[in-house]
Order: sequence, then C-alpha cells, then structure tokens
Amino acid sequence: MSKVNRRDLAGEVFYLHRLALDALREGDSAWAQALGRHIYRVYQKYRLRGLVRIKSLVCKKCSMPLHPAYTLKVRLRSRESGRFVVYTCRACGHSWRKVVR
Ligand SMILES: [Zn+2]
Repeated sequence: MSKVNRRDLAGEVFYLHRLALDALREGDSAWAQALGRHIYRVYQKYRLRGLVRIKSLVCKKCSMPLHPAYTLKVRLRSRESGRFVVYTCRACGHSWRKVVR
C-alpha cells in the first residue's frame, strides 16, 4: 500500500466540507450529516490534527458540518476572566468556547 499524503487528505477534507455545505443549502441535512461523519472519520484515521481544525468544520457531538450563521451561532462574550467566543451548533445545541486575546 502506498503511503498516504496527509496534506492531500487535508485538502480532501475541505473539499468534502464544501460538498456538505452545498447539501445543506439544498436542504438535504441527512446527507450533509453523513458527509460530516465521514469527514470526522478521515480526520481521526489519518491524524490530521495540525493540518485541519476540525472544530471549525464539523460539530463534535452531532457531526453536522458547520458554517457561521447557517449551522453555527457565533457570539462574543466578555467576563472578568477575559474575552471569549461562544460557538453553538444550531443543529444539536452543543456549545464550546474559545478564548481570544
Ligand atoms: Zn451539533
């Protein structure tokens, strides 16, 4: 078996994500989610960490492909501890934070 080029695969993942968003636009969320699951599987199998930021592509909980304002809610929050961005998946309600400086 030939060695897989991880960089090529990363490009493939972005391509799949674009396909998934097209599916969402056409209202086929089941197919979009199937693509999302596939993206996640490729990501884990070939350890694409560092090449692909999976959190910005696919929801960790329901594997719905993410796109701001479409399937992803983005809110800026400010506390004494600092500023952070709250991301919420609009499909399942799963949310996570990212600290910004
Ligand atoms: Zn979700």
